[in-house]
Parts: sequence; structure tokens; C-alpha cells
Amino acid sequence: MAVGCPAGTREWKRRQVAHDRPDRLFDESALNSSCEHVPGAVQRNKSRKRSGGCQTTWSIGAILYGDAGVPVHTEEPPCALASTYTGCVAGNIVVRLSLALPVCACCLAALLSGAPADPEDPVFRAVDLDLGESREVHFSNGTVASVRLIARDEIRDSVRQAVRSARVRVEVNGHETMLNCGNYRLPLTVGGVQIDCPVTKGYLANARTNPWGLDKDARLRVWPAASPLLRPGTYVYPVQQRWFASDTQMSNEPSFVDGSEEPARKRVYYHYGLDIGGVEGLTHVISATGGLVVVRGNGVLPAYRDSPYIEINYDGVIVLDERGWFHWYFHLARIDPGVTLGSRIRIGQNIGVIGKEGHAGCWSHLHYEIRSLQPSGKPGIQEGYAFLWEAYQKQYSPDLIAVARPHSLAWVGEEVVLDGGSSWSRTGKIERYDWTFTDGGRAEGPRVKRVYAKPGTYSEILKITDAAGRVAYDFAVVQIAGKPENGWTDRLPPTIHAAYSPALDARPGQTLTFAVRTCRTTYGREIWRFGDGSAPVVVKSDGCAEPASPKGYAFTRHAFKKPGDYIVRVERANERGERAVGHLHVRVCAQ
Ligand SMILES: [Zn+2]
Repeated sequence: MAVGCPAGTREWKRRQVAHDRPDRLFDESALNSSCEHVPGAVQRNKSRKRSGGCQTTWSIGAILYGDAGVPVHTEEPPCALASTYTGCVAGNIVVRLSLALPVCACCLAALLSGAPADPEDPVFRAVDLDLGESREVHFSNGTVASVRLIARDEIRDSVRQAVRSARVRVEVNGHETMLNCGNYRLPLTVGGVQIDCPVTKGYLANARTNPWGLDKDARLRVWPAASPLLRPGTYVYPVQQRWFASDTQMSNEPSFVDGSEEPARKRVYYHYGLDIGGVEGLTHVISATGGLVVVRGNGVLPAYRDSPYIEINYDGVIVLDERGWFHWYFHLARIDPGVTLGSRIRIGQNIGVIGKEGHAGCWSHLHYEIRSLQPSGKPGIQEGYAFLWEAYQKQYSPDLIAVARPHSLAWVGEEVVLDGGSSWSRTGKIERYDWTFTDGGRAEGPRVKRVYAKPGTYSEILKITDAAGRVAYDFAVVQIAGKPENGWTDRLPPTIHAAYSPALDARPGQTLTFAVRTCRTTYGREIWRFGDGSAPVVVKSDGCAEPASPKGYAFTRHAFKKPGDYIVRVERANERGERAVGHLHVRVCAQ
């Protein structure tokens, strides 16, 4: 092990890599900029970097390594999802230090924050480019790729001028292509590599802040061809429910579920993190990675108190993984007692249950995000949608996934494009795209256009079918605002959030819990229709009168008698008759 430079710094890493992998190239752009800078940890007292200043003695060998074979969860695989479900994640951690060395907590933190266990991790390289700029990226396997940014543009809505679509034209190893950025898009394979574009500069024009740490025109991430997106065995899907079981806010789509898309709000909260809706108090959250618990509720490890990579609130947990990434889990209704500050958390370990605590607004969800050092040299968001996607694919082996996200926002009378083109089939081919609209209308094709005559929150059903007749569903949420008339305030319809639990593997006769909450109106009630011929069920949520109210949601229970795919609908109208409609897809498996 190198000496003379604090662990986690450029020099320390250079020596470590040179020592351990003399045969490999190493991309120094991923390293820290100086011997003094250790990302994440804030060294208030330099003497604490040395073990002589420490009060706590830990064993590196016991804390850093050893994830092999940790169960992810113990439930049955969901039906029609898990033909190759493994049930556990095989660890693939390279053990560098076989001797247990005494180090202090702050030294361990520096190690964790600055020194990935393997120079191949992360397996991608990120670069920020201005228009016309090109860059060579060097992968750890010795290959090199060249990327150039040719053009970028963003499409904005006419209600808030928020970015709804962003694209870049890039040249990759001499091949030109167009990439869609963020917005539930996955990396493309082009020019012998995989490449994606997490964010472009256009977002900064009216974003509330610059959480991406982006200064240039666009950020690109590049992986070797056919490489996994993250090192196998180091990442799992952090919520124990089906993919898209409820609303999500991801990939820079403006925050919308609880009515926060208001025309008058000029600054947009582009949701750079990964919000995953669930049932308050019931939907379990597990740790996506192994790592060190640096924040638990209001507690924080002293070395991180002023870190730009964290925030502290009573409702959250932040885990620092071996890549030096900070994983945020917020709005938790409960934090599992097994999660303790300063302890090592295992991949897949329980973190807590979904809630609407802290800054959740009016809806129950996990706010999950990843923060890490960005190519700009600033701390920023590590876009995580593709990592969630890959993890879910590995754990649950779905045959089909329908994607009708992100949501849309438009004025009455404007044309809205519904796009199911990001849907996916294991066979590579989707035979049919069938849309069923809230008003009963139907259409076919991956992309369809609609015009809405009345304000409302619409939920348009996308059903995709593969050649074997397998189906999957998703719902395109469309929020339609009434135009202001005579200087009156905007006519904004209610919005609605629905979720159910357990949302992994329902069985005939099993009682499921359904939760709903409407926002922007306290008028009327919610009506559930379960799609199985049973009578409608009427409930009443508080209409988001008190966002943090523990009684905000209305709960009901339902059991489906027979196996099948059920489209559950729930809706509520305000005094003007403007409706908010939500859908859930419940798959009930054979016994
Ligand atoms: Zn969030």
C-alpha cells in the first residue's frame, strides 16, 4: 500500500493501481484533483487523517469487503417475471488488503470515499463536453474511445417552458448518432461502445439549482461494448415491488405527482433523483449497495458533517459505497433499527419503509439518488435510471417492460404526444402497442397524439404485446391545465397518487392494501374500480389538506379471486368536474 499521501487521493490511487494492475490503463479523469482533496469527507482536522489522531479502531478487512452471497430478498419470485431469478447477488469484490489494518473512522471514510475497490469500478467513463469539443476516454481494459459533441437541443412545454425532451448529436469512434438525454432513456450501443447522455445545459436555464454539477453543454457516459453498466454483484433494485408499480419521478422529469407542476412556478424542480412511489408504511426499501452509513436520521459521521455530498434530515439514510458514491434514501416512514450510524450496511439489507416524511410533499415515495464527483470536478448527481433498470432486469428477469413515462403537461387544446417507444422486450420485438384512453378511446402504435378539451389528470393505458402473446402495461400521466381567463388564476385540476402492497407477487385470495391521495381538492371522494367485476369502493383522502398528515391517504383492501392482469382505476373530481384518474396494474399469479 502506498504511503506518503492520504488514502483516496490521486497519488495514492496511482500508486495503488500501479502496484495492483500494472498491466492496465487507468483513466485518471476519475481521480481526485490533488493530494489534499478527498471527495465526500470533509477533513476538518488534518491530524485526524492519521491513525495517531483516532479514537476508534476498525478492521478494514471486515468492513470493506465480503458481499458474496448476501440474499437480496426472501420473497418468492413474481410470476411471469422470474424465469432466471437468482435470489441472491453473488459478490465479486476484489480483496486487496488481506491484512486487517487498524484505522480510524475518518481514515476509513476517506478510503471509502476516494478509493474504489477495483479500478474497473465504475466501468464507465463520464465526460462533460462543449459543442464541438472531443475527448478520448480510456477504459480499464485498455481500449480507447473518442467522443465528440456536435449539437444539442431541448424541447420545452408551453405551460412552464420546462425541458420535456433533450437530445444531443454525438460522434462516437467516427459514428454519428442522436441520443435522447435523461427521460427514462437507456444507453445506446454505437461505434463499438455504449453511451448515454444524463443531462444537457438547457436544463440549467430554469432549474432551481444545478445539482448535476454541469458547466458544459452536455454530459456523456461511455461504457465498453457489451459491458454491464455497473460491476456485477454491487447493485440491487432498492424497492421491493414491481417495476413501475406506482408513479415515479426520474431522469430529470419535472416533479408532478402531488400537483407541484404549476404554471406560475417559473423555476422547475427537474427530478434528477429517483422517486419511486409506494404505500406509506408498507413498501420496503433495501440498500442498493454495500457501504458505510454516513447519515442516519439527524445523525452524521463527523467527517461528513459539512460534505457537499450529503444532506441531513430525520427521514433519511445515506450510504457511501466502495465507488465513492453517496446513496440517499429519504422520506422514510421508518428507518430499520439494524441501520446504525457508522456501521457497514450489506447490499440488500433493509433500510426502512416508504413514507412521506421530510420534504416529500404530499405523496408517499422513496426519494433515492446517487451523488458523486462529476467530470466538472464538482459534486453532482449520478443519473441512476439505467442502474435501476439493469438491477431489476438481473433480479427479476422480466420478459417485457412497458414504458409510457415521463408524464406530460399541456394546456387545454394543445396536442400531446404519448410515447411508449422506450418499452422493452427480451426478444427484441414488440408486436403491438395498444392505447386505451381515459375517455374510452383507443389507438395503436408506439407513439400517438391526443388533444384534451378539459383540464384534468389523465392516465392513458399502454399495453404492449410480444410475439408469444405476453403483455405488459404502463400508464402515461397527462396533466392538462385550463388557460387563465381574464387574468384569473390558472384552472388547475386535481392530481392523484395511487399505490398498492404487496406489489411483487399477488396470489388469488390474497388481501392487498390500496392507498390513494388526491391533491388540489378537498371536494368529493375517490372511487376505486378493481377491474374484476366487483362493486366500486368509495374512500376519502384528505385532498392533501395537510401534506404531512399521517391520515392523509385513504386505504382500502381488496383480494382478487382469479389469476390475471388487472387494471385498477381510481379517480376523484373537484367541484368543477375536473377529474384526476390513476391506474395500477396488478398481476395476480396462479397459486
Ligand atoms: Zn424526490
